[in-house]
Amino acid sequence: MIEGRYISAISVTEPDSGSDIGSLKTRMEDKEDFFTVNGSKVFTTNAGYADFYTLLAKDESGLTAMLFDKELIDTNGPRRFEINDLGRKMGINTTTSGELVFSDFHIPKDYVIGQRGKGMKIVLDGFELGRIVIAAQAIGSMLYGYEKAAKYRKMPSRRYSTDCPVKAGRKNAGKTESKLY
Ligand SMILES: Cc1cc2nc3c(=O)[nH]c(=O)nc-3n(C[C@H](O)[C@H](O)[C@H](O)COP(=O)(O)OP(=O)(O)OC[C@H]3O[C@@H](n4cnc5c(N)ncnc54)[C@H](O)[C@@H]3O)c2cc1C
Repeated sequence: MIEGRYISAISVTEPDSGSDIGSLKTRMEDKEDFFTVNGSKVFTTNAGYADFYTLLAKDESGLTAMLFDKELIDTNGPRRFEINDLGRKMGINTTTSGELVFSDFHIPKDYVIGQRGKGMKIVLDGFELGRIVIAAQAIGSMLYGYEKAAKYRKMPSRRYSTDCPVKAGRKNAGKTESKLY
C-alpha cells in the first residue's frame, strides 16, 4: 500500500449512521465457516477502485471489522454486492465516494480483523490517523482559497466585479495573512 500498488477503502458510514458508529445497522450472521452480511454503507472513499475494503458490521457480539478484497467480491457475484457511485462532490474529486450494498454477502471467518466484537477500537485507531490527513487537507484548501483571494485583490480595480468585498478584503488582508502563516 505504501508503494501505491494497492488501494484500500474503509466502509463504516451508513445512510442513518455517521459520527455515531455504534448505531450502524449492517448485520452479520454466523454461518459456521463464514458470515453473511446484509446492509448498506455510504461515503466509502475509493469505492469501485479499492483492491480491498475494511467493513464494520454488527451482531450480538458487538461491532466486528472484516477485510474483503476484489477476489471475494467476484466469488460472491453481482447479486450479493453492488456499488453505486455517489457522483461528483464539491471537492476531493481525486477520489470516488460510493454506496456499497450487501445482500447475503459471504465473508469467510478468517477475514475478521482482530477479535470479533472488538471492531470499534480498530476503526477508531484508523480514524485517529485520518484526522491528521483531514486537518492537512483543510489547511491546504484554506491556503489555496486565500492565495486565490489575494491574487484577485491585486488585480486592477476595473476588473473587480463588485467593489464592496474587495475593499473589505484589502483592509483585512494583512491580518488574515498573518493568521494563516
Ligand atoms: C469526502 C468524504 C469522504 C468520506 N469517506 C468515508 C469513508 O471512506 N468511509 C466511511 O465510512 N465514511 C466516510 N465518510 C463519512 C464520514 O465519516 C461521515 O460524514 C462522518 O462520520 C460524519 O457523519 P455524518 O455525515 O452522518 O454527520 P453526523 O454524524 O450526522 O453529524 C452532523 C453534525 O452533527 C455533529 N454531531 C454529531 N453527533 C453529535 C453529538 N453527539 N453531539 C454534538 N454534535 C454532534 C457533527 O459534529 C456534525 O457537525 C466520508 C465523508 C466525506 C464528506
